[in-house]
Amino acid sequence: LPENTVLEKGIAILGSTGSIGTQTLDVIENSDSKFRVVLLSGHSNWHLLFSQIKKFRPKYAVITQKAAFDEAKNNFKEKHTSLLFGTEKLLQLLKLNEIDTVLHALVGFAGLEPLVHSILHKKQILLANKESLVVAGEYIMALAKENKVEIIPIDSEHSAIFQCLKNEKRDTVEKIILTASGGPFLHYSEQELQHIKPKDAIKHPIWDMGKKVCVDSAGLMNKGLEVIEARWLFNIPTEKIDVLIHPQSVVHSLIQFNDGRLRAQMGPPHMQYPIRYALHYPFQEENCTDFAFINFPELTFKQVDRKKFRNLALAFYAIEKGGNLPAILNAANEVAVQAFLEHKWPFYRIPELVEEMMAVQPYILNANLEIYLETTKKCFADSWAYIRKHNKNNGYSH
Ligand code: NDP
Ligand code: MG
Repeated sequence: LPENTVLEKGIAILGSTGSIGTQTLDVIENSDSKFRVVLLSGHSNWHLLFSQIKKFRPKYAVITQKAAFDEAKNNFKEKHTSLLFGTEKLLQLLKLNEIDTVLHALVGFAGLEPLVHSILHKKQILLANKESLVVAGEYIMALAKENKVEIIPIDSEHSAIFQCLKNEKRDTVEKIILTASGGPFLHYSEQELQHIKPKDAIKHPIWDMGKKVCVDSAGLMNKGLEVIEARWLFNIPTEKIDVLIHPQSVVHSLIQFNDGRLRAQMGPPHMQYPIRYALHYPFQEENCTDFAFINFPELTFKQVDRKKFRNLALAFYAIEKGGNLPAILNAANEVAVQAFLEHKWPFYRIPELVEEMMAVQPYILNANLEIYLETTKKCFADSWAYIRKHNKNNGYSH
């Protein structure tokens, strides 16, 4: 930080019990800056939330799952924190003046409504929850502009692009290249992809992440969601966004400019760096690491096989068509991933379900927030119905 700068931020962490949430609290704990943790939220894991409350003493903590809250409240003893229930309460608290910054680390569509509220209350946004931009990116970015709200990305690729755009003119960007590790099944044959079990998919070779994003990464849907996220965050047409497999995950993404220059952001493959960058933005905190670049003597890049990883092709198609189609893609994918994790749907058939929903759900080009919400709810229900019907027909179970 520049000399004499005291960074005093009141921060709310939505999804503090998740992978990004816990890593954010680690960064805060090890930082010299003065973050005041005002609000934490968790869904089901109240044991972890309790230990976070003990350590960080937030004024408020919210549990959004009823069963978890009922159990938790009988065991709650802290005097300095109010323990509250539900999404409605969470949305109300976002207007508190003591909150300057909201870190959005919920997983899935559940992140959309809180994001809308944070923007309406003119908070600085640190955004990990990519699904909200996939569902309603055009609306969210317009709302942020109207309310003069900054959105600082946490997703490592988008943090990289955000950093590479510094002091550059948007209209000189020729291409944004998002890098992808390729996930654990990069070299699997189509035959091998048919036998993947949840436990194989939730172990990512490079990143330590929540279950959904692990499954998304393994099938390259994560990269598809990130293409859509980038399209809106940086207001860049889809045809200028490309994806390359880069298994070492050291180059976090790059930009090609129209004068032939390339600018990349590189660093150790760990989420603490983009989290730290976002938390301190627009300042930087000194934190020297022992990262030895020479330990990565080979950085390799190659095209994605979009036939084998069909999710990526579907995501490109969805964003090219626009309207509510990305919301359909997202909703079908959320259901497919959950069903896969519950042993109700095989991994290799995730793209099939997504493609089916994209084909049969009503396509609405001129969508608004209400339509994105309705589309998602309908598509959740229809996706589960599709799974039930097909499992009944073929007797599937893992
Ligand atoms: P996790 O699954 O680890 O954590 C999700 C968090 O959201 C938990 O706190 C969970 O609570 C809470 N939550 C789950 N369902 C609901 C719900 N219905 N309503 C309210 N809260 C809920 O996810 P990650 O931290 O891995 O990912 C969070 C977001 O960040 C995702 O959008 C992901 O794509 C994105 N991201 C993640 C990266 C990573 O490295 N993990 C990298 C880049 C982006 P509880 O656990 O208590 O049930
Ligand atoms: Mg990412």
